[in-house]
Formats: sequence, structure tokens, C-alpha cells
Amino acid sequence: EIMVKEIFKSFGAMPVLKGTSLTVERGQVVALIGRSGSGKSTMLRCINGLETIDSGSIRVAGHELDGNPKKLRALRTDVGIVFQSYNLFPHLTVGQNIMLAPTIVRKRGADEARKAAVEALQLVGLGEKFDAYPDMLSGGQQQRVAIARSLAMQPKVMLFDEVTSALDPELTQEVLSVMETLARKGMTMVLVTHEMGFARRVADITVFMHQGKIWEMGPSQELFADPKTAEMRQFLSADV
Ligand code: ATP
Ligand code: MG
Repeated sequence: EIMVKEIFKSFGAMPVLKGTSLTVERGQVVALIGRSGSGKSTMLRCINGLETIDSGSIRVAGHELDGNPKKLRALRTDVGIVFQSYNLFPHLTVGQNIMLAPTIVRKRGADEARKAAVEALQLVGLGEKFDAYPDMLSGGQQQRVAIARSLAMQPKVMLFDEVTSALDPELTQEVLSVMETLARKGMTMVLVTHEMGFARRVADITVFMHQGKIWEMGPSQELFADPKTAEMRQFLSADV
């Protein structure tokens, strides 16, 4: 579902991704871990075309990112991304927030958009919050609404960038549990996370990034049980 081949990306004179390749099969869950500045967010942003790459190739959900704006729009429609900050519109209800993109981008009718919004909200456990305003919700609930908003677009791939980093531990758990549900339902997912337990348990593959490169990767259980490089061992011991 995702094919990233030998991508290079610099910001000014600073190389951030240095020949990174990654393949994700349909239904696979991949966790990206690594130190601050190792290029995890840049990698995710390249995957859905929020950053343009200097060289290499990216193909996601059947769309090649080759600079063609039409293909870029098609790719963005099929690839959901959720960030640490949820960016819900405060003057719209939860339901209206979720219905916005399906209505405008997917050109769904009101009834259909509403039905998809209700389903997405139920999936994240917030079926009763359709008419609530975002500021009436906890941070964890708002983040679940942000996930529902992405899901209502019926994406083929979901990307998550540290979606629990701003949350208290209990709220973190409820958001992780929504992500686990999605994973079990077969969603193709790439997630950047500091939750090592979650990566180990839920991700099929974990990728350790270091200095803009994939330093080490493999089936999560094996990788965490027996990291091969000194850098990853050091990262894991510093982190927990
Ligand atoms: P963190 O764990 O802190 O989120 P990260 O692994 O996600 O780190 P990136 O955000 O990908 O790291 O950043 C990699 C490097 O690229 C950093 O040195 C960062 O300062 C730099 N960088 C990222 N985005 C930009 C930008 N838009 N302009 C200039 N430099 C950037
Ligand atoms: Mg980041």
C-alpha cells in the first residue's frame, strides 16, 4: 500500500532524510520510533505529500507522488493524517467538523456525510457527542474526534504523528485503544509514537530511525526483544 524508495529530503543545507526506503503492505501497522530530530515527522509528511522530496519515489494507495497536483489531491483524499494538535473548528459541532471534508472534498450528500460521521464517531466511542462543541470535550475526546474526522473520509491509509504526546496518561490510553481497534480492523497505518509498549504490542513492524536513516527495522516483538545496534539500545534505555 505504501512504497517509499530511496527518498532524500533537505531543509536548506540540512539533510533530514538520507535515502530512506520503506514498504508497508495493506493492513500492516508500522511504528516509527527514534530520537527527536531523527526525521520521523518529515517521513510521515512526505508520505502524504505535505513535504516535497528532493529525490526518490513515493507511491501510496495507488497514487504516485510525481509533482502532478491532481495525483497529490487524490492521494491526500485517500490518506488520513492526525497530529498531536487536533485543530478542530471551535465554532462547529463535532458532527459538523467531521462532515466538512467528506462534503466538500468527497462531494457527499448531507445524509450520506451524516451517516459516515455517526459511524466514525461510534467507532471512536463518541457516538453521543455529535452535537457537542469541541471545547466541551476532554483532550482525549477531541483527539478521538480528530481521528473520526479522518476516518469519515474513508481513507485507505492512516498516518499518526505523536497523537497522544499532549495527553494525560488515562486520556492517552483511550486514544491508543481507538488506534488498536483500527489496527485490528485491518487499517493500513504508520504511526510515530513514544509509546514503546504500544508499538511493541500493536505494530507489526517497528522502524527505528536515526539521523535521517532507517537504522534498524523488523517485526516489533523481535526488534524490541533484541535490538542489534548500539544506537537503538541506547534509545530504548534512555526512553524508559
Ligand atoms: P520529534 O521527535 O522531535 O518530533 P522528528 O523525528 O519528528 O522529531 P522531524 O520533525 O522530522 O524530526 O525533523 C527532522 C529535522 O528536520 C529536525 O532537525 C528539524 O529541525 C528539521 N525540520 C523539520 N521540519 C523543518 C522545516 N519545515 N524547516 C526546516 N527544518 C525542519
Ligand atoms: Mg516529530
